[in-house]
Amino acid sequence: MLTSKTSPYDVIIIGAGINGCCSAYTLAQAGLNVALIDQDGIASGGSGAAGAFISPKISKAGNLKEIMLDAHAEALKFYTAHFPTYTLVKPLLHIANSPKEGEKVETFKHETNLKHSTIPHSIQTLLSDDAQNSSSIYFDIGAVVDAQGVCHAMAEGIDFYPLKVESLIRKDDMWQVGDLMAKHLVLTIGAYPKLLPIDYVGLRGIWGHRIDIETAAHIPCILHHHVSISPTLKGGVVAIGATHDVHYSPFRGEPYDVEEGRAQLLEKASKTLKLNNINILDDYMGLRSGSNDYLPMLGALVDADATLEKYPRIRHGERNDPSEYIYYPHVTMINGSGGYGFVLAPYLAKRLRDFLIEGREMDPILSPSRFFPRWAKRQS
Ligand SMILES: Cc1cc2nc3c(=O)[nH]c(=O)nc-3n(C[C@H](O)[C@H](O)[C@H](O)COP(=O)(O)OP(=O)(O)OC[C@H]3O[C@@H](n4cnc5c(N)ncnc54)[C@H](O)[C@@H]3O)c2cc1C
Repeated sequence: MLTSKTSPYDVIIIGAGINGCCSAYTLAQAGLNVALIDQDGIASGGSGAAGAFISPKISKAGNLKEIMLDAHAEALKFYTAHFPTYTLVKPLLHIANSPKEGEKVETFKHETNLKHSTIPHSIQTLLSDDAQNSSSIYFDIGAVVDAQGVCHAMAEGIDFYPLKVESLIRKDDMWQVGDLMAKHLVLTIGAYPKLLPIDYVGLRGIWGHRIDIETAAHIPCILHHHVSISPTLKGGVVAIGATHDVHYSPFRGEPYDVEEGRAQLLEKASKTLKLNNINILDDYMGLRSGSNDYLPMLGALVDADATLEKYPRIRHGERNDPSEYIYYPHVTMINGSGGYGFVLAPYLAKRLRDFLIEGREMDPILSPSRFFPRWAKRQS
């Protein structure tokens, strides 16, 4: 940890969750001089709580499916190649938790190129009747990473500053954060209060609680059903999680009922298989930051005031090409990964690197500016 630096960095990254750490790692590997900042330490937000499964998203055809497929393939390669000691590779059984999801699973199974096979008898016999009778897909390869371990390993050798950023200052064509300066700023702050006036960015926090347990039951593969149940890198420890609560927010100062969360997790897990002699070892809780349209965000941020001043008719529904909007200079946001932050981080970090180093355009589908016109219309 350093306390101050007067010579500028190439990039300052605010937020040391999986998106900040993976970006820092990828940019530093490419030769950039990176500063990483977090108010609470590395992997202290949603990332530190994550089960961190590198699982495919079972979704219908469309942009999200394509991006998730690429991201999943890149993530499996990335973690196993660069962080093998933090990555546990195991088969993965995804069981539908409702008839509607069952339809999705069947379609996915029919269309996917991912290697999958019939469930081994030894696993089949462990499952509840409900799980056995639901649609499912058994992937030969799945993975789970040690969320906190991998974030710390990525940040190794990067200049890390434990700071709460209150404001961003632009001076002499540089971004200034406390004593630090850089040409580029990357915002990877998850579901925390936004640091710029970017109310148009459609994000919501989804609270999650997961637990590590000891149990006499043997868990031979990663199971996703009503909750995930999985072996971990900590010998004998089984992870169960996570809950999805869109109503609770730690920022409102409300108390959270840990016992209720634990009970919910164990009840959901019991719908998949019988876990006996359970001893709860640890609780992990945090906010996922999900985008309103489920696609992640990677891109520049529109300066809403400046853009509306230049094009006031946007308020009345006039459509401008996004290239005409005014953007905060040299700022990129990565956010909105929902429950797939660990799957998406290597994919997003690689595209950030290609943009910063090779000037390759970022995918407009992922641009946070996609939310701007609709929001602007509501400002009239
Ligand atoms: C219980 C749970 C289970 C999950 N399971 C999975 C899973 O199995 N697989 C998967 O891929 N994903 C999973 N996720 C989702 C994944 O964890 C998130 O998508 C991911 O954490 C998003 O990472 P991030 O870096 O964008 O945000 P975060 O990890 O939330 O990091 C943001 C960081 O920014 C810092 N920060 C914010 N504001 C400031 C400021 N002003 N100054 C300084 N620092 C600031 C915060 O302290 C925080 O550390 C899970 C999430 C939860 C909560």
